Amino acid sequence: MNSEETNNNLSQLGEFGLIDRIRNQVSDSDSVAVGIGDDCAATIIPAGELLLTSKDLLIEDVHFRRDWTDMYHLGRKSAAVNLSDIAAMGGKATHLFLGVGLPKTLTATEIDQFTSGFIDEANAAGATLCGGDTCRSNGSLLISVTVHGSISPEHLLCRDGAKQGDLIYVSGTIGDSALALAQLQRGETPAAYLGQRHHSPTPRLELGQAIAKNNLATAMIDVSDGIFSDLGHILDQSQLGAQLIQNQFPLSDAARQHLKNNPQDAETALRGGEDYELLFCAPALNNDKINQLATELGVPLTQIGSCVPASQGLTLVDAAGQQRPIQSTGFNHFR
Ligand code: ADP
Ligand code: MG
Repeated sequence: MNSEETNNNLSQLGEFGLIDRIRNQVSDSDSVAVGIGDDCAATIIPAGELLLTSKDLLIEDVHFRRDWTDMYHLGRKSAAVNLSDIAAMGGKATHLFLGVGLPKTLTATEIDQFTSGFIDEANAAGATLCGGDTCRSNGSLLISVTVHGSISPEHLLCRDGAKQGDLIYVSGTIGDSALALAQLQRGETPAAYLGQRHHSPTPRLELGQAIAKNNLATAMIDVSDGIFSDLGHILDQSQLGAQLIQNQFPLSDAARQHLKNNPQDAETALRGGEDYELLFCAPALNNDKINQLATELGVPLTQIGSCVPASQGLTLVDAAGQQRPIQSTGFNHFR
């Protein structure tokens, strides 16, 4: 394929010039026998471990707006949201593959900023970019990322293992990203902390691995669509219901401050997605170990409810102490 018709800057560089520039930014890795530059990458995962694979698409004006983010952080986020899926299985992230459809309006400098953000995020996770595909887009910017990871079979954490009576925990704080997005959509400028949580989420890889290795949880997922929606997947697959307690939901100082001034956003904070925190279920007898892990890693792990029989569905005890049923639907692209 060729990219001759991209803008001057890009067309001078060409598809292969661009790929060379990406390759030059990538460091060598012991787990990459063949990296960027051949028909396939040849990679190594530890003997006896399972290969984890996940893919996420990011489409301009569906997942992001170029006037709301800079290209460096878009690069970081494109890697981070994929790495977060590896964290949610308890795995180590190993390799990344980056497909891009580039509109004519992008400059080579913007693409450099994007790839350097992507590679910085990969490096922070100990993962290596080792291939991809590059072509022109006649419309918007398209980003398609595949991530590989690995995990010992006995540590793998899926969505279907939760048990009745398990406690439900979430890492970090929730709602920050959704509050920032709500403000951007209203043409307001989010507080710096909320904006950073939206534009530059951190995948909880170290935490996910520690939970898995220590057999602390029965089921785990990352919060991409919102607590209710993502917990809903665990409940569906584990055939359970849950009772959540709103007053226990962990909110950041910035989110609390925001909600003081914008009480109408309370539901957004509760339901909103893209925090990329880990949500997991664990037997009550692991509670002490979970608290200890939170201290060791410096990551809050907050109990927000418990698993109940499926017949009771998903309910929330709201801030006023009223128990109400929750529709577990989060963001749905086709609604
Ligand atoms: P092919 O024609 O065999 O698909 P390409 O010319 O598309 O090969 O790609 C050449 C090499 O560059 C391959 O190793 C491919 O994985 C890599 N590559 C292409 N685009 C990217 C990208 N955006 N990021 C990282 N690697 C890329
Ligand atoms: Mg190709």
